[in-house]
Amino acid sequence: MASPLVVNILELTRRPGTDKDLIVAIPATILSLDDPRLTDDQDVAVNIHLESVSGGIVVTGTAVAGAQLSCRRCLTEFEMEVSGEIDELYQRIPDNPDATALTSEQLDLTSVVREGVLLAVPDAPLCRPDCPGLCPQCGADLATAPCGCNAVNKDDRWAALDALRDQLPPGQ
Ligand SMILES: [Zn+2]
Ligand SMILES: [Zn+2]
Repeated sequence: MASPLVVNILELTRRPGTDKDLIVAIPATILSLDDPRLTDDQDVAVNIHLESVSGGIVVTGTAVAGAQLSCRRCLTEFEMEVSGEIDELYQRIPDNPDATALTSEQLDLTSVVREGVLLAVPDAPLCRPDCPGLCPQCGADLATAPCGCNAVNKDDRWAALDALRDQLPPGQ
């Protein structure tokens, strides 16, 4: 069976100005993502627009995949969707340094979709934007339970002030 990400571009290349949409949900396994953070059991939602331009095809769109990430502040495992951006230029005879050569009437978008998804995985994910993280002193997860370290800190500050006061000459 042909990969759902292989597009016949014969019509597109014949008539500049035409376009085509590729909207498919594909099993993540097709992409061979090979990244433990990306879940294989959720389909990848691919939404790609192909537009025929003079001498080539512009391919833009998104690929949304499921990810299982570990919060960088509190270390909690959480699920989120990552949205890979696809923005490629294909040319019959590449004259643009960023263009990829078109070699046949079949355009296989598997690798650009794969790359887009992999690049979308955040390196330093947060379970939520305001995750308070773990207490630097006792390691407690501050999102679930305040640990009381702040109170101790305050007491320490007062203790330091008291110590200072003790060193001052009396009467000042
Ligand atoms: Zn977190
Ligand atoms: Zn603490």
